[in-house]
Amino acid sequence: MDRVDGYRLDLGGMTEDAVSHRWQLTDDFFAAVNGREIGKGQVDVALRVKRTSEAFELEFGFDGVVEVECDRCLGRMNQPVHGETVLHVRLDDEDGDDGELITVARVPGILDLSWHMYEMVALGIPLRHVHPDGECDAAIVQRLDGEGQERQTDSRWDALKELITKTNK
Ligand SMILES: [Zn+2]
Repeated sequence: MDRVDGYRLDLGGMTEDAVSHRWQLTDDFFAAVNGREIGKGQVDVALRVKRTSEAFELEFGFDGVVEVECDRCLGRMNQPVHGETVLHVRLDDEDGDDGELITVARVPGILDLSWHMYEMVALGIPLRHVHPDGECDAAIVQRLDGEGQERQTDSRWDALKELITKTNK
């Protein structure tokens, strides 16, 4: 994961009680962030920042298409993504993120949104994503079928199952 310029929010310098921003995340953005799930994409992001007495509420809406790997044939496919996310941010002594509340150092009071936006879009990808019927790479599907049922389950579920089994022991 890399930080990307151009997606910083100046909370320390915010003088209004509410501001709106818009971004268009393009292939360049996804290449620069260098995340695992998404290689390319075109996603519109709208952000409304509201200041409350104690904190800032960041309401995101996003809508677009990203290129991901098909679960069935491993070929590239376009996956529509859309959703809404709210982040709560507070200015404090130092930067931090406990999963519920993000804190940003009062000086300089800047929040880099690039990774938050990437993560939000990545979470909008359905757990199972495959080409529409008939559009998979037939040769690959045939070969995978020949290897048995190994790819039937998502490896993330296997890891989770293993964890649950361990915890129950
Ligand atoms: Zn496919």
